[in-house]
Amino acid sequence: MRMTNKVVLITGAGSGLGEAMARRLAQEGALVVASDIDFAAVQGVVASIVASGGHAEAEHQDVTDEARWTALVDAVLARHGHLDVLVNNAGIALTGSAEDTTLADWQRTQRVNLDAVFLGTREAIRAMKTRGGSIVNISSIEGIVGEPLTAAYNASKGGVRIFTKSAALHCAAEGYGIRVNSVHPGFILTPMVENALAGMPAEQAAAFHARIIDSIPVRAMGEPRDIANGVLFLASDESRYMTGTELVIDGGYTAR
Ligand code: NAD
Repeated sequence: MRMTNKVVLITGAGSGLGEAMARRLAQEGALVVASDIDFAAVQGVVASIVASGGHAEAEHQDVTDEARWTALVDAVLARHGHLDVLVNNAGIALTGSAEDTTLADWQRTQRVNLDAVFLGTREAIRAMKTRGGSIVNISSIEGIVGEPLTAAYNASKGGVRIFTKSAALHCAAEGYGIRVNSVHPGFILTPMVENALAGMPAEQAAAFHARIIDSIPVRAMGEPRDIANGVLFLASDESRYMTGTELVIDGGYTAR
């Protein structure tokens, strides 16, 4: 029980990695407030956590909505008295190169993947600064290395990586006891990856998939629990001396 007495807010918890994180942290005793823009999906995840003896609550949240961030964090504080961990996980992956990405796709990507991480981090600092906490921002290997077909996504995840360090240094300088770290998953089989492949012409998708497997040193995609275990470590007090750091979980993808 590594998360006993901790109140955790996880965005995008209705699917994929966020769902796995919600389940894993609840297993370790956390009270998980699970939010998603897809309320039915996150209600389903929460019902299953509660059915297996965990503590979880579902919230409807569009992470791009500034007022909703404030209201949600206030509601968590009113209900539970404190917020100990925020995992900024919600994200989208629109494909497109530097040449063919539309401005609308570019801006939508930055709003969901980067602006929302800023909003969440700012609200979490407000909530945590009197008793400390841990903020975990989900970036990607694509916040570290480039990929020709995901220009907007690359930019957003690179932004999350370096914004995390700025927030970490600010919290350290202020003596808040708040740690801020980023997690960089490699290719993990979730609906996001399946949808990205489905959005490409079949031939391009097959080539992209083959190229992914070829490029992973351990020659396999990861599973959501591989990322959930890394988030658990950063969320727990076991990582108490870590802030502003990057936890890469990628089967060796960025080692070369
Ligand atoms: P997913 O599509 O399975 O889940 C993302 C969740 O975010 C969905 O439930 C969706 O409804 C929610 N969401 C989308 N827009 C939202 C919004 N505006 N407000 C609130 N919720 C919203 O994706 P995933 O693979 O689980 O990805 C989770 C995170 O991990 C993302 O930030 C993604 O960029 C990152 N990531 C994933 C991989 C991978 O291989 N799957 C690799 C690196 C990073």
